[in-house]
Amino acid sequence: MGTLLDLILPDRCGGCGALGERWCAECAAELGRDPVRVRPRADPGVPCWALGPYAGVGKRAVLAAKEQNRRDLAAPLGLALAHALARLRAPDRPLLLVPAPTRSAAARRRGGDPVARSAAVAARWLIDCRSVPLLRMGRGVRDSVGLTTHERSHNVRGKIMTVADPDRWVAIGAKAQVVLIDDVLTTGATVCESTRVLSRIGIVPRAVVVTCAA
Ligand SMILES: [Zn+2]
Repeated sequence: MGTLLDLILPDRCGGCGALGERWCAECAAELGRDPVRVRPRADPGVPCWALGPYAGVGKRAVLAAKEQNRRDLAAPLGLALAHALARLRAPDRPLLLVPAPTRSAAARRRGGDPVARSAAVAARWLIDCRSVPLLRMGRGVRDSVGLTTHERSHNVRGKIMTVADPDRWVAIGAKAQVVLIDDVLTTGATVCESTRVLSRIGIVPRAVVVTCAA
């Protein structure tokens, strides 16, 4: 059953804005290309990969999921992540996706966390893969728009923590290949801090995979 808005507004593609469908074949092809290696200024010490640049289709889709509450975009964004992960993963090892944390106030305002939602979709497409939201963002983290690399690092330093429920992480086998997932990689501050926090509980991410790299 559609919402009232669905009755008023025609469907638009979340990637290019074309009328008629919520995600078009051209945008699916654009986001489905091989992931590219990226090197953020703040180096998390593990390889970082992006589905594409923070421009065009990827940027519009990420922003629509984030700012316009386009929850439906978790499906195509998650599928695109799954394509990239299928290429990058080591064979014969379970894959564990850890969504990078979002500022809780921002996530609430948006009606949920689009990164966790896309990661959950990606996990459903992949064999022997789970998405486990292990990280949360504490209070006092500012919106990072306009901050320098140093300011961004300071902004998240000590503010990312593991979720209180240890059952979520004790079940992770030593064989699992852990990949940190985020929507946008800018300076690398969030993934650096996330990697540091995970390593404190003995979880070492093998890679970072993001939808867009700025
Ligand atoms: Zn499109």
